[in-house]
Amino acid sequence: MSLLRITPSIHSSVSSRLWRLSVFLLLSLPDSKGKAIWTAHLNITFQVGNQSISELGESGVFGNHSPLERVSGVVVLPEGWNQNACNPMTNFSRPERADSWLALIEGGGCTFTHKINVAAEKGANGVIIYNYPGTGNRVFPMSHQGTENIVAVMIGNLKGMELLHLIQKGVCVTIIIEVGRMHMPWLSHYVISLFTFAAATVAYLFLYCAWRPRVPNSSTRRRRQIKADVKKAIGQLQLQVLKEGDKELDPDENSCVVCFDIYKPQDVVCILACKHFFHKACVDPWLLAHRTCPICKCHILKT
Ligand SMILES: [Zn+2]
Ligand SMILES: [Zn+2]
Repeated sequence: MSLLRITPSIHSSVSSRLWRLSVFLLLSLPDSKGKAIWTAHLNITFQVGNQSISELGESGVFGNHSPLERVSGVVVLPEGWNQNACNPMTNFSRPERADSWLALIEGGGCTFTHKINVAAEKGANGVIIYNYPGTGNRVFPMSHQGTENIVAVMIGNLKGMELLHLIQKGVCVTIIIEVGRMHMPWLSHYVISLFTFAAATVAYLFLYCAWRPRVPNSSTRRRRQIKADVKKAIGQLQLQVLKEGDKELDPDENSCVVCFDIYKPQDVVCILACKHFFHKACVDPWLLAHRTCPICKCHILKT
């Protein structure tokens, strides 16, 4: 396995880099206590001529401090020359017959808490705030501490402007706000970070294994040199092909101590400097591994 080939010093440097990377990723995570985001379904109904038009979309998000409740009512605009309801005296052009109404307020100019409180004091049952101009239909969960008793959702600027223009033209718009789905942005961020970290680790190890220096270190070079010397010494050893009448064939006197077999005519034996002899096929691998005579331990490189 590639990992096992990493030398201890390099291995510790890889570990320390990976450790630093994981700490960086953990620190870059958003607050893990971050709240879940709840989307809001807006069921919008309005009259065009004799026709009643309805549209439903997951087009808003609940504020961080909003109750997660269904609320409905006629949509009402702030009175005056702007729509941001930052003036505490702001009135809302509420239709007399409407039991329940929702304030539609433009974002910006003051805090969300301030806008929501202004609408709540005038009796709104819910507040819809549309995002700042130039933000398209992007939304974010508003922070509005201290207004926990009234439903507050944010919708995109484009959707808000669309509703604003309809109401300004005298169209009666009714909205039912319903609780949508929960999103855990920090969780998906965590999962993405974890995948990024795993991918970075695998890529780092892969690249390290692919590109690590191929030059052998000094101990590897020494081992290779010894192996070459042993092979050379083995090649220089005296060989003999046994034939009938040779004293080496006496089974009471001689047998190969590597394979414990007696010698037979035509066997090729290898005679070491110490005069001990063995089957060549038996002693060659032994010498490569041990470099000494199997009987007297005499070293083949020292004789
Ligand atoms: Zn043998
Ligand atoms: Zn020997």
